[in-house]
Amino acid sequence: MSFKTICLLFIIVWFAWFPKFYSLFVHHRTTARVVFCDVGQGDASLIVDGDFQLLIDGGPSLDVLSCLTQNVSPFDHELEWLVLTHADADHFYGLTSVLQTYTVRHLMIYNMAKASDDFYAFYQAVWSQLQVGNLEVVFPALGARQCLSSRVCVEVLSEFRDFFPLNIYQDHQSFENLSDMITKFVPKSYDYNNGSIVLKLYFDQFSFLFTGDAEEPQELAILDTGLLTKVDVLKSGHHGSKSSSSPLFLAAVQPENIVISCGLENSYGHPHQLTLQRYADLGAQVWRTDLQGTIVIDFDDNGYWHWSSPHSLPD
Ligand SMILES: [Zn+2]
Repeated sequence: MSFKTICLLFIIVWFAWFPKFYSLFVHHRTTARVVFCDVGQGDASLIVDGDFQLLIDGGPSLDVLSCLTQNVSPFDHELEWLVLTHADADHFYGLTSVLQTYTVRHLMIYNMAKASDDFYAFYQAVWSQLQVGNLEVVFPALGARQCLSSRVCVEVLSEFRDFFPLNIYQDHQSFENLSDMITKFVPKSYDYNNGSIVLKLYFDQFSFLFTGDAEEPQELAILDTGLLTKVDVLKSGHHGSKSSSSPLFLAAVQPENIVISCGLENSYGHPHQLTLQRYADLGAQVWRTDLQGTIVIDFDDNGYWHWSSPHSLPD
């Protein structure tokens, strides 16, 4: 074999294997970050610890897939954990495509459902993975603590009651039955926002609070559990609505950083001026996906974090 042929082979092998090498030994092993994905008017937060990923909510569109592509190795087709905080489309819609694209190992979900075509599609995507046997459904229990990776641990701060006499995610196989069940058992007046899964999350020594769309009634209920403590980062409840971030709740949580996930010039008027004033009164640093795009916190090995976003907040 000539020297020229050897060089050519080396170049071919290098180009063929470099992405894999990079993925497995560089990017894959060293990424440690929390990402608040810019998904417009909705929520999608991604926690990455090497080859471990936790996605909390999936936003109202397919934008969540771009966020995953940018932050997960192209050779990693598995998401270790998925959490759906509640059954509103601005939180679950993107998860249908996520479940169709990635193998999901654990899904934390309340035994909840909504009578809409989009929710049925989500349910079917969950059911497909359950049937293959990849997926374990985990129901949140108040006070339950679990470390999901070597650096990421979560604690459940919300309490739930079951709607259904059977567990729709494990006992029901028929799509039509799900529809009947929802009509029969979910009260028309059910308040989805205040049934949000609320999670306290630790990444190393840094603490985060993810509250879904919890509003004041659920915030006060969480206060009553005695589990609420000061956190470093609050993911603003209900996209900065004035019905969330109540004074008593904020006084207990005392966040130094607050991330608001909402769409630019959204029709709901999120975030509300009153909420922004409460945050200003706390002296908290506010980050906004509508004005700054996707917000990333990188954790280094020396105990520091580094925040970044494509745009800075206007004065
Ligand atoms: Zn929402």
